[in-house]
Amino acid sequence: MSKKLSTKCVHSGGIKDEKFFGNITPIYPSITYNYLKSDSYPRYFNTPNQLAVSKKIADLEGAEDAVLFGSGLAAVANSMFSILKSGDHVILQKSLYGGTINLVDNEFKKFNINYDYVDVNNDQALQKSLKNKTKIIYIESPSNPLLTITDLKKISEFSKKNNLISLIDNTFSSPINQNPLNMGIDLVIHSATKYLAGHSDLLAGAVCGSTKLISKIKKSGLNFGSNISEYISWLLERSIKTLSVRVLKQNENAMKIADFLVNHRAVNKVYYPGLKNHEKHEIALQQMTGGFGGMVTFELNSNMNSDRFVENLQIIQPTMSLAGVESTITSPTQTSHKKMDINLREELGITKNLLRLSVGIEDSDDLIHDLSESLNGNK
Ligand SMILES: *Cc1c(COP(=O)(O)O)cnc(C)c1O
Repeated sequence: MSKKLSTKCVHSGGIKDEKFFGNITPIYPSITYNYLKSDSYPRYFNTPNQLAVSKKIADLEGAEDAVLFGSGLAAVANSMFSILKSGDHVILQKSLYGGTINLVDNEFKKFNINYDYVDVNNDQALQKSLKNKTKIIYIESPSNPLLTITDLKKISEFSKKNNLISLIDNTFSSPINQNPLNMGIDLVIHSATKYLAGHSDLLAGAVCGSTKLISKIKKSGLNFGSNISEYISWLLERSIKTLSVRVLKQNENAMKIADFLVNHRAVNKVYYPGLKNHEKHEIALQQMTGGFGGMVTFELNSNMNSDRFVENLQIIQPTMSLAGVESTITSPTQTSHKKMDINLREELGITKNLLRLSVGIEDSDDLIHDLSESLNGNK
């Protein structure tokens, strides 16, 4: 019988300590091996700790194979540049992680790779964006920072019908909440820096998919050379053991917080796929099988000062990144979307008073009390 996700978090991958019989994976820090007996070298993605954690992540996504990189963005860049060649065209979802947009806007043109940002939930717009040379369709769901939901089944059908390769950035869901390969998506990318690691203390990325596609990415990836060390691989494997308990608690806390915020006078809007009033709640319900995630985005009323609100929080910390065990909050207009054209930003709904909360594993009563005190004391 196939094991459940929480069991896979603990037991998949890993290396048996056959020498000393310890019960956890040992660290093998060698970067060089006896060439008569082994072709291992960290840049070839084939050292013991890298393989151990790749196996764990592949199992969690239901993938044949997975490959690790030194950061989430390295996973995004290596996937795309391994598949694409000059003259190819890429369809990208309109709302994506800022770093991905910067990669595409600053690097693709240099290599004569064409692209369009498309409202991928709009069938007509999607069909219209298709070109002879379209090779990849790239999506993210839920997306940053407004937690928009893209219909994964629809995208995978469109992709298959037109012989494209579909990629999803699944960082915000984690493998606990959503497994896009099951819905026919070809490659799943994670910034392992976020939920997979979960403690705000390491940088890594992963790509999961078929042996064929992952081999292709490894083949080019070893030339690009953005690999992960054995130490970080080991730490990541250790971290993933608690992924399921962390994410399930974060789902639960986030749902309670979203419900609290929706009913608060000082809050204008709440974006959370678990809320019935979320535009794509029904689709989220179908494809986010584990839960709706730990990210809650909300907009304070215009008479509120969002900086003062954040400063007054006692438990929730202002940070740029997300997905740690500790709750953190960020202002997209002051961080990830700072450089975006103001009009475009406002049009998308990314306003000055918008805040993106990454809900941690603290007690939900304490988090709600923290939010409540700051909301009430700040009018
Ligand atoms: C953080 C993040 C990335 C980039 O990951 P790094 O590990 O910072 O390189 C990509 N996608 C999403 C959705 C992210 O949140």
